[in-house]
Amino acid sequence: MICEKCAQERKKSTVMLNPYGSATLMGWSYHYDSDGVFHSHDPNKITTEGKCSNSHYFKKITTRKCPAEGCDYGGTIEVKYKD
Ligand SMILES: [Zn+2]
Ligand SMILES: [Zn+2]
Repeated sequence: MICEKCAQERKKSTVMLNPYGSATLMGWSYHYDSDGVFHSHDPNKITTEGKCSNSHYFKKITTRKCPAEGCDYGGTIEVKYKD
């Protein structure tokens, strides 16, 4: 990923992530769809703190990606920047 604040300011930076594992603990189940394809829809959100080399801080909230091909469940939900 790139820092969106730096992208807006047309600066280059490196981004460091610090996952601190505050995943919510909701149960979920696996399922196979009508084509027999395995899906894992995990609703637990994972919060990751990040910082770029220009000192922009943000939190990134994601869920685990579903491994089924063509299924877009999971991924980045939102990235919140601190002002
Ligand atoms: Zn930045
Ligand atoms: Zn899926």
